[in-house]
Amino acid sequence: MIMIARALLSVSDKTGLVEFALALAERGVELLSTGGTAKALRDAGLKVIEVADHTGSPEILDGRVKTLHPKVHGGLLGRRDVADHVVQMQEHGIGNIDLVVVNLYPFEATVARGADWDETIENIDIGGPAMIRSAAKNHDHVTVVVEPADYKDVLADLSAHGGATTLGLRRRLAAKAYARTAAYDAAISGWFAKQLDDTFPERLSLAGARAAMLRYGENPHQSAALYVTGEKRPGVATAKQLQGKELSYNNLNDTDAAFELVAEFDPAEGPAVVIVKHANPCGVATGETLLDAWDKALMCDPVSAFGGIVAVNSTLDKETAEAISRIFTEVIVAPEADEDARAVLAAKKNLRLLVTGGLPDPKAPGLVAKTLAGALLVQTRDTLGADSARFEVKTKRSPAEQEIADLEFAVKVAKHVKSNTIVFAKNGATVGIGAGQMSRVDSARIAFRKAQDAAKAAGLEEPLTKGSVAASDAFFPFADGLDVLVEAGATAVAQPGGSIRDGEVIAAADAAGLAMVFTGERHFRH
Ligand code: 5GP
Repeated sequence: MIMIARALLSVSDKTGLVEFALALAERGVELLSTGGTAKALRDAGLKVIEVADHTGSPEILDGRVKTLHPKVHGGLLGRRDVADHVVQMQEHGIGNIDLVVVNLYPFEATVARGADWDETIENIDIGGPAMIRSAAKNHDHVTVVVEPADYKDVLADLSAHGGATTLGLRRRLAAKAYARTAAYDAAISGWFAKQLDDTFPERLSLAGARAAMLRYGENPHQSAALYVTGEKRPGVATAKQLQGKELSYNNLNDTDAAFELVAEFDPAEGPAVVIVKHANPCGVATGETLLDAWDKALMCDPVSAFGGIVAVNSTLDKETAEAISRIFTEVIVAPEADEDARAVLAAKKNLRLLVTGGLPDPKAPGLVAKTLAGALLVQTRDTLGADSARFEVKTKRSPAEQEIADLEFAVKVAKHVKSNTIVFAKNGATVGIGAGQMSRVDSARIAFRKAQDAAKAAGLEEPLTKGSVAASDAFFPFADGLDVLVEAGATAVAQPGGSIRDGEVIAAADAAGLAMVFTGERHFRH
């Protein structure tokens, strides 16, 4: 048991400080403190010894050196159970420090409010992390607290153990202490990387700054955090959240998928809307107006759109905001939202509205990564965009102008759908999306069935796949997938080609009077 007799308090965030120090003082703990912290405690009527008086060295260099002194670090690092340490400490007049309470200069908050270079540098804490690391290393003897949230646990431990802390608590707090200093240094190195951002993406800054701890991961029993790489790309990492609940792990993932897809549609060519569920689009459309695009996107799969994420490629307006808010939506992400749209959505307290200030360039180079057991898998981003100029017609019939436009649209969407992917499209809108199946023929069937369901819900005679076009993310290994497209009523198909059975597939298309183009470009997304 380590009785707490002397504590050193040095905090920037003074939340809960006075109450905590009061409880320590009531237990007879001697309080050491640095300038600002000492003042706050003294103002509250507590008896405090300035670290400067304890060490005999004044705070110097504008506070850059306050606690960096052998009487502080010796008091933290000296082992009470090693005779030699005890003797040396006596020789040098170093007293034990049993508890360290430090929270650091608010570096992250300083960066977040856009401070200039000099101010940011001044907010790099040196002595604080040093004390945290010293105390945490010597957790056999010393208790370290790095955030106010832990004050109550320390007091509870002291009460339960007659003024001492348990090794269990000290170990837990030591682990947390190193997590804090690691995150702090990551924030500093992330900031530097951002300032010197001329080498990205050659230099992968995955160990970037932790922007936020998330409430939990994909499921409530998983913990999670968001790390920003410092890449200058409008998107979820840099978006401004105007309203709504905190974004969850799944929200962030799905919103990113939605926004990356909508960015494929140049606003100069017209408004576009994407609705995403579980990182797959369930409705994508271009339109005369944003509202028109929304209506068309929703039509594709209105059942799945419930609880979805909506991304738009141009300024969100009032009419579209009203229409979107009629169904339960988790997140809306837009380059901008006008005043009227913001006012409409303000009534939906939980709905998160993000504005990004722009669209990312879908052709910009970049890296994407995922983890394997014990490894990181990294690749360059899929920057290939659909371009009908590269289509090669393989069938007797060539696609008509509208079919070509829709094929290009469908290929753009297919790139953002989990493989295996079949996307039906008509007049600049998806009308059936089959995602993430282990066989292409299943994806085709699901896309068709969804179109049938949507038609039924809308009271249409026949599914919108009738007279549509279809895109496949990869080649058809057999003609069976194509047969489903024919059954669904597609008139033209785009696929990369490259199967040893291409001949059979083309023959099946010819037999059904379909136009088929090869893109030569595969868009697997696993
Ligand atoms: P105070 O408000 O008490 O004057 O300062 C508290 C802050 O100073 C804490 O955030 C603590 O981490 C930091 N700090 C303590 N010792 C040192 C030091 O020697 N150098 C620097 N740069 N910061 C320190």
